[in-house]
Amino acid sequence: MNPADARHLLARADQSLVDGVLARNRRALAKAITLIESTRTDHQQRAQKVIEALLPHTGNAIRIGISGVPGVGKSTFIEAFGLYLIEQGLRVAVLAVDPSSTVSGGSILGDKTRMELLSQRTEAYIRPSPSAGSLGGVADRTRETLLLCEAAGFDVVIVETVGVGQSETAVAAMTDVFVLLQLPNAGDDLQAIKKGIVELADLIVINKADLDPQAANLAQGQFRSALSMLRHTTPGWEPPVLMISALRSEGIAAFWGEIARYREVMNASGEFTARRRSQALAWMWELIDRGLRARFRGNAQVQATLPGLADAVAHGGTTPALAAQRLLGLIE
Ligand code: GDP
Repeated sequence: MNPADARHLLARADQSLVDGVLARNRRALAKAITLIESTRTDHQQRAQKVIEALLPHTGNAIRIGISGVPGVGKSTFIEAFGLYLIEQGLRVAVLAVDPSSTVSGGSILGDKTRMELLSQRTEAYIRPSPSAGSLGGVADRTRETLLLCEAAGFDVVIVETVGVGQSETAVAAMTDVFVLLQLPNAGDDLQAIKKGIVELADLIVINKADLDPQAANLAQGQFRSALSMLRHTTPGWEPPVLMISALRSEGIAAFWGEIARYREVMNASGEFTARRRSQALAWMWELIDRGLRARFRGNAQVQATLPGLADAVAHGGTTPALAAQRLLGLIE
């Protein structure tokens, strides 16, 4: 086969992938996601073309980020919420950004016993987090997978992450609404406030309210007063604090009601679209920054000069500013 034919065939294969995703074919969706998750350069190029072809069909879902420490009840909540959405006639996709998977090779959604009922439903699609690469890489692929799920007609896309820091920022940066799940105990609340994650939250949900309703009430009050002192990142929106029991499926309808209200308020003010636009631009700049950094570190002259200059900076032989100037000069 000559190379021109091969290119033609490749394009046809990818076109059928695109058609399959649009036809809501789960196998096509899974294959497209696998292409996105591949680290091979040729796969990456094909994946970007597939995404580009699907782009006009994206953007119609509500993107919900859900975060909380391990054990807070994320998978119990997502299962209850997902089943509720299906009852409402909606289709739901669940993705994960898992910083621990980049280290251990494991994955928060990898465990088959999680969300057992939801995973059996054809109206739901659950995809474990990609397990290789840096958090940045994993987050990028999740972001692109989110677009594929939208093209495949899912009405709600949930992106789950564990509450351990930078992954929250990554998830908040790819979703329309960021939800923080909390346990009804004060120690945790203070920790979250210290970490600044509360500032990212558009909605705070106190789970396991069934265990100790009094403690949950207290936590609700604490969060409300803490929130009133914080400058929230989403203009025109006061983050509500809800109490639920994921295990008993209590408070799920009220939660969905708040999501709907959020969407209305944000749409009315134009913030909904503004947030997506600024997210897309921030993502582009992030990729540019990362690309420049990689190019810089990969440059042979930089590699040869860097150790000596770094040593000189460390020992006061030159200033950081001069060293940086010289190194950057090498790639111009
Ligand atoms: P994740 O690590 O955040 O995904 O947490 P899981 O969903 O796996 O839940 C951890 C444990 O908390 C499990 O044993 C759940 O059954 C339990 N759990 C989750 N939600 C609730 C709830 O609302 N009430 C009670 N009593 N237990 C819950």
